[in-house]
Amino acid sequence: MRVPGEAHHACDTSLQRAARTKLEDQMTAPIVSDSVRAANVALQETLPFDDTQDFEDARRGFIGRLDPCVVRAADGRVVWDNESYRAFLQGEAPASVNPSLWRQSILNAVDGLFEVVPGIYQVRGFDLSNITFVEGTTGVLVIDPLISTETAAAALSLYRKHRGERPVVGVIYTHSHVDHFAGVKGITTQADVDAGRCPIIAPDGFLEHAVSENIYAGTAMTRRAAYMYGPVLARGPEGQVGAGLGQTTSIGTISLIAPTDVIVATGEKRVVDGIRMEFQVTPGTEAPAEMNLLFPDHRALCMAENATHVLHNILTIRGALVRDARTWSRHITEAIELFGDRADVEFASHHWPTWGRERYIAYLELQRDLYSYLHDQTLRLLNKGLTGIEIAEEIELPPALEQAWHARGYYGSVSHNVKAIYQRYLGWYDGNPAHLWQHVPVEAGRRYVAAMGGADAVLAHARAAFDEGDFRWVAELVNHLVFAEPDNAAAKALQADALEQLGFGSENGTWRSAYLSGAVELRHGSFGTPVLTSSPDFLGALTPEQIFDAIAIRVDGPRAWGERLSIGVTLTDTGESWRLDLRNGVLVHRRAAVEGVDVAIGTTRAALPLLLAGTTDGAAIDGDASVLARLLGVLEAPDPDFAIVTP
Ligand SMILES: [Zn+2]
Repeated sequence: MRVPGEAHHACDTSLQRAARTKLEDQMTAPIVSDSVRAANVALQETLPFDDTQDFEDARRGFIGRLDPCVVRAADGRVVWDNESYRAFLQGEAPASVNPSLWRQSILNAVDGLFEVVPGIYQVRGFDLSNITFVEGTTGVLVIDPLISTETAAAALSLYRKHRGERPVVGVIYTHSHVDHFAGVKGITTQADVDAGRCPIIAPDGFLEHAVSENIYAGTAMTRRAAYMYGPVLARGPEGQVGAGLGQTTSIGTISLIAPTDVIVATGEKRVVDGIRMEFQVTPGTEAPAEMNLLFPDHRALCMAENATHVLHNILTIRGALVRDARTWSRHITEAIELFGDRADVEFASHHWPTWGRERYIAYLELQRDLYSYLHDQTLRLLNKGLTGIEIAEEIELPPALEQAWHARGYYGSVSHNVKAIYQRYLGWYDGNPAHLWQHVPVEAGRRYVAAMGGADAVLAHARAAFDEGDFRWVAELVNHLVFAEPDNAAAKALQADALEQLGFGSENGTWRSAYLSGAVELRHGSFGTPVLTSSPDFLGALTPEQIFDAIAIRVDGPRAWGERLSIGVTLTDTGESWRLDLRNGVLVHRRAAVEGVDVAIGTTRAALPLLLAGTTDGAAIDGDASVLARLLGVLEAPDPDFAIVTP
């Protein structure tokens, strides 16, 4: 992480200096502070590292692996490389990695084809998520075909190598997140789906939610996701070690085929190629559209992403709409009631299965308790007047949850989840009017730096805090200086050092990547958005209203204050029509007959997404075409390179 030869700040402890002398022989390794070392050692002593059941479960049923576990795109580009993790994730945790996260990453790096029960197989370690294969009379049903067509195809090929050339006779999307559907064209085709040879079953609301996140806040989420998953970080003990939920996201071709069969209600059943399934819909849990399902003949329960071997996110740090911990917990209770007597094994679309009824019920009950505890205790404490950051420090999990590996905060964390629950009920404002109208970071930074006696005084305070191991305070102090003086190299270097220590201490994989990514940008400048996720399939799945909304949020308000125009849009193949009005910097749309507008556009459903790209090629234009140019003139493209750790 640290560039060889780069100047270090002047006040390391003697032990750090000694460590650095040793480490500099290796030329690249950064210093791990005494306090982070001590905290990592302490954790080693408080957690049940002698409980190795997870390692047994992660390897149970192993059939074979892809060797090396590297997947490339057609042009040779590597889209998945699990060997880069296997190369270093072994043995004891190094000082620069939280030992609990290290353990989780070793488990997540186990890859291959595994038998869950006879007839149900999983390929794990081929992407952030798992892909599951259920054998029918003639073919195979696929659950959650990963993120990329390349990784999904490689997983299917590994499955077929060991289980025979079975055709894909159906697909289940358990929920609307990209790691559970976007590789679908690696395992089937639109033609097979259209011909009825491969039904695609998904929960109600799947399609709308699958694409809507990318439309509204997608640019910001994708930029922030680069901090959260750390794709620019080197993989290794000083860099990215895993995301907790899985190692990282693949970077291949993403695709989407719309579901052909939607599950609306709990209790619905389906049979595909002789495979019987019973569904429980769980909207508003881990995803807005999600479902669990039982395979009664296999006595196997699929919990989608509603129970995994992490404390999951109530609010992911890349940003999203906040989830409902209470609903989530209740749906786990319902799953136990519905299916608990009819399954002997539980599996999910991340991590390894849990075998034995007693064990998986105990596991589900703890997961249920975890989300309920966070929810209820946050509400108890906020009703005593504590704010989000105070609850995050105050709350402690009961011992049984604290000691359960699957309840540890590798992906979500107690800290950011309780703030999310606070946010869900009370919003961003903590009720203290001192926080109602604060200065923006640059203005606050200038004032703090001046009040503290200038940049040198801030740095001296911060270095003293660094030596005491109070990296959180360093980050807060120096952030003011970096925002006041973005060219202050000493400030940026010290801030990077502090974020790095926070990363080395983090049990949460996404926190670690966020801290280390921030350090990289402070040292080397912005890396922008290194992984872009878009697909013509996604655009094609947008509803007309989503397309109009996407245009509306690009209107540069002030520039459009004086514009008044109206546009009619008619879909020539479906006969539907809308009226769009731009006024007061707002582009509103409603279903309406096209009459009395400045200009009318006639286009097809398939060509409608072209409007998003600012083109009306192929469309019939009736009326004043210059109106369209005026609309285009007030649209602004989002910025995928916006600054985060600097102003
Ligand atoms: Zn997932």
